Amino acid sequence: MPSSVIELSQSALQNNFTFLKEQFKNTKISSVIKANAYGHGLNEFINMAGKCGINHFSVFSSREARKVKKYLTFPADIMIMGWINDDDMEWTISNSIDFFVFDFERIEKFIDTSKILGIPAKIHIDVETGMNRTGFAQKDINKLIKILLANREYFEFKGLCTHFAGAESIANYKRINDQIKTFNRLHKLFLKNNLIPEVRHTACSAAALTYPKTQFEMVRIGILQYGFWPSNETFIHYLSKNNIMTDPLKQILSWKSTIMSIKTVKTGEFISYGTSYLAQKDMKIAIIPVGYSHGYARNLSNQGRILINGQRVAVIGMVNMNMLIADVTLINQVALGDEVVLIGKKGDLTINVSSFAEYSDQLNYELLTRLPTEIPRVIIK
Ligand SMILES: *Cc1c(COP(=O)(O)O)cnc(C)c1O
Repeated sequence: MPSSVIELSQSALQNNFTFLKEQFKNTKISSVIKANAYGHGLNEFINMAGKCGINHFSVFSSREARKVKKYLTFPADIMIMGWINDDDMEWTISNSIDFFVFDFERIEKFIDTSKILGIPAKIHIDVETGMNRTGFAQKDINKLIKILLANREYFEFKGLCTHFAGAESIANYKRINDQIKTFNRLHKLFLKNNLIPEVRHTACSAAALTYPKTQFEMVRIGILQYGFWPSNETFIHYLSKNNIMTDPLKQILSWKSTIMSIKTVKTGEFISYGTSYLAQKDMKIAIIPVGYSHGYARNLSNQGRILINGQRVAVIGMVNMNMLIADVTLINQVALGDEVVLIGKKGDLTINVSSFAEYSDQLNYELLTRLPTEIPRVIIK
């Protein structure tokens, strides 16, 4: 038996996609599944999303695209937003994989490869609008347009895109709005040159909800589909704009383990490595076989909360590489093999990733993507 398992709820995912489809009525959703589907488990997640009617997936790299291609059991588009291994361009084009093009080196590479294969590449032109990450600089757009016009037979213009520099925070309001204006101006320039992208896509989760005009024909949705908000600010903004009080999303992931060992400790003893936790009473403690090597952040030492037998209890002492210790003094009935909820629900109580992430100063995103692939994933109703 593994020391912990991750459960994925199909009904929670369905709930989230129902909500998202209501928000983005005339807009296609590309499901962003980079980084092992934000730690949820790539293979499991793809199939769950397929059951919810999703047929467009975005990944970071050609390596991830290869995995998605292997796991897919239904027709769907795959889009690479970042890295393509040098020797993967041929595979990418011949497998009809969409990909971002953000510099002249990649233009040359795809044109050369398309010529050899006799297959047009499915490209999305990524334009730099202000984040200063990937994307064609504005000063290069005319040169880019010339090259594209001269090589029309080697590509399908699948999309025009950009990425916003922090749509989850109001502090970036002006920057985001400037990016939107720049994007619209560049789009017009392409149209004027008779280069017409099939879709425009700019929005991640935060932008799509907070700046509806960024939705265009497609949105790239990551964190929301997993049931998390990009930031507390985005959540509050959504609630107040729609005058509702409850979270419309459901987290699909639960992380569970079991009690490996139980013992008592006398007043005045230190618990775990070092001196960070001193027993100030006679205590009963439970040892859980999960530690920072399994993705349970070390800065949850003396901070984390977990659920055991319907009660919320504290993680005490340092989180070790493979184990953590919980204070179960106040739980009467506790035995080896009892279920431990590290993330998720039990009865009325919840340990959610956002509170967990606050304790440990990690973003949702970071915590999720650090959940090791080795932990088994189980799909539940
Ligand atoms: C990760 C990513 C997204 C999705 O972001 P979320 O905040 O998780 O919705 C969208 N676009 C690009 C380019 C990304 O890298």
